[in-house]
Amino acid sequence: MTTHYEITIKGLVQGVGFRPFIYKLAHDLNLRGTVKNNTAGVFIELQSTPLEKDVFIERVRREKPKVSRITAIEVREAERVSNFNQFTITASLSNLNEITRVSPDIAICDQCLEDYSQQHHRFNYPFVNCTHCGPRFSIVEAIPYDRPYTTMKTFEMCPICAGEYKEPADRRFHAQPIACNHCGPTYTAFLNDKVINDYSTIVALMIETLKTGGVVALKGIGGFNWLVDATNVCAVAKLRELKRRYSKPFAVMCGDVSWLSKYVDITPAELEQLTMWRRAIVLLHEKIKMSTAVNDGLHTLGVMLPYMAVHYELFEKSGLKAIIFTSANKSGEPMLKDNDEARDYLLKHSDLYVEHNRSIYNRVDDSVIRLINDKPQVMRRARGYAPEPIVNRETVDGGLAFGAEMTAVFALGIRDQIIMSQYIGDLSDYAVYEAYKETIQRISSLFNFTPSYLVCDAHPLYLSSKLARQIAQEHNIPLYLVQHHHAHAVSVMVEYDLVGDCVALSMDGVGYGDDEESWGCEVLVCNRFDYRRLTHLPYVSLPGGDKAAKECWRMAASYLYSLFGSLDLLPTPLIKAVGQNKITQLERLLASPLNTHLTSSAGRLFDAVAALLGICYENSYQAEAAMKLEQIAIDAKADKEIYRSRTEGEWNIATIFRGIISDINLKEEVAVISMRFHRTLASQLASILARCTKENQLSRILLTGGVFQNRLLSELLITELKQKGLTVYYPTNIPCNDGGIAVGQLAIASARINNKNELCTNYQ
Ligand code: ZN
Ligand code: ZN
Ligand code: FE
Repeated sequence: MTTHYEITIKGLVQGVGFRPFIYKLAHDLNLRGTVKNNTAGVFIELQSTPLEKDVFIERVRREKPKVSRITAIEVREAERVSNFNQFTITASLSNLNEITRVSPDIAICDQCLEDYSQQHHRFNYPFVNCTHCGPRFSIVEAIPYDRPYTTMKTFEMCPICAGEYKEPADRRFHAQPIACNHCGPTYTAFLNDKVINDYSTIVALMIETLKTGGVVALKGIGGFNWLVDATNVCAVAKLRELKRRYSKPFAVMCGDVSWLSKYVDITPAELEQLTMWRRAIVLLHEKIKMSTAVNDGLHTLGVMLPYMAVHYELFEKSGLKAIIFTSANKSGEPMLKDNDEARDYLLKHSDLYVEHNRSIYNRVDDSVIRLINDKPQVMRRARGYAPEPIVNRETVDGGLAFGAEMTAVFALGIRDQIIMSQYIGDLSDYAVYEAYKETIQRISSLFNFTPSYLVCDAHPLYLSSKLARQIAQEHNIPLYLVQHHHAHAVSVMVEYDLVGDCVALSMDGVGYGDDEESWGCEVLVCNRFDYRRLTHLPYVSLPGGDKAAKECWRMAASYLYSLFGSLDLLPTPLIKAVGQNKITQLERLLASPLNTHLTSSAGRLFDAVAALLGICYENSYQAEAAMKLEQIAIDAKADKEIYRSRTEGEWNIATIFRGIISDINLKEEVAVISMRFHRTLASQLASILARCTKENQLSRILLTGGVFQNRLLSELLITELKQKGLTVYYPTNIPCNDGGIAVGQLAIASARINNKNELCTNYQ
């Protein structure tokens, strides 16, 4: 006796080869029925016995396509009796606008790599892809995800591809970017006045250029990259000059994991992340320096593995071991993505320029992750992640959240799904701000989205807030303002689906406080609507405002002045490096009543300590001092000392600075002092958090904010909190830096709206 089952599979199941997989599985098991995409995910009608159904579902769970992620399988017995003769795939109707899922871009799969070296019509074909791999988000112009709505629409399928596309049993059934040597996109290289179209010749030229220390511009999935041999110091120097990026570390691509493991530690969890389909840059601990030119002064190296056929080809044919892959852009501008503009600029600024004729619709940078306690933490969420939605527990429909400023990411709400944009960049660069506005347009139109309410940071001067205000006024849409650190905290609540009150520690560089000061190390008791500030890192003055965020030595002076009333304890090397004149001027400023800017920023505390230790006097890129301070401590992992204070559950910053100064005078190693600083800070924070949870009769703690990109501090603090019996939540899939702010903003505004607790500003 067979039953008619209706099975709904939810999660990332569209555009990842799910329907052909189900089709094959059903045929394998001799089952009848049908499969199609619908708004909820994949919908299957199955005619089978209960036992067959169980086997079917068990195998779906076990054998599902690599890229897919199942969040739920719902089974119900239908009333009606069906009479399927076979198992078929029902194509999604093109007017099914409701299908909102767009898969992220996926690295080339093993089977396609095999086809690349064997399959007749795809032999050496660099744009080979299938339902399990290939470009997705970067080429989608509209939904549903179907070829006419992608940038592949200009390529007409050849009869062979068309046959594969229509064949349900084929791995390329409905693979929208399907292509082969007869019909798909191709590379073109420009060298001097020559135009080269032959792929093998192009690869040979690229290898020759890289091996002779040249810079190659190459169009990829989400934009153009510049490539140089990472082990060639002169080539890297040339690249730094081109990018005007003189000290910020680069990431490298490696073709050979066993070679790589001579230089970096790779844990099993890290290897899993490195090799998975998302192909993010993974920050790894370096044990032997691969190349000082790449990441001078740091002990971490950003590494990714090849994700396009041409990358594999480059490594295989050249014998090169590590290639820098960095975005090709004019200084302060987003990565170039369109051929015309790129050719114009990159031909002049590269030794070899290679483009392809598949247009990129959505620009996507490389993603960056780091493992904290063996769990991946997304630091930059772009290729391989965007636009995978994050599910909120209640509707966020119609909400558009503008994010912050330095690490701009916006988010829009469709039903209960939060769709975060890809990482965009620092809005204070004009071209990035323009790209941000354009991306809001693009993603809105991609998802047929029109906002019914807006949310932005409470900072009145963020460009994102100004834009939100302007749109709210022009279109008469309600606008909600959300405090920065509250948004950080609630982003974690969304990730873990938490409700009710929690204690949150939001630690970052800066966020606009309710008292108009620069907040940045805040302990809050919060829920999805509101928050109360329980305590914060004691205020110190921010001498010179924005300058103090860049020039770390200013913060060293500010801390000493506020704690000890003078600058007498400033270490001599710092005074020498900065110059006595500047120090005297700053001392006058610190004493003056005009010096009124205050901050509780954790970022500035790290700056101050890094400057005292002579690690960094001036940030040449964001968080340089903090990163270097963290990384140097790794050399002193065995040191277990902390700077002990007499009070428990309180801030005792003076103890920290007294300890550091005394250790400096005792000529203690910098690594050891940095380690003690980290341990002391973690211990003070843990005891403050323990007190705050106890006083508020809570046990859940959220750790968030950009400072938690610091793995050492994160792991020390998490361990201490767990030892105290507290439950700790920290972001993994949503960035802990300002790239996660939009998620918190959207969840807070929607919680207020859904519960009629409307605290919005109406600009009418
Ligand atoms: Zn494939
Ligand atoms: Zn073809
Ligand atoms: Fe922040």
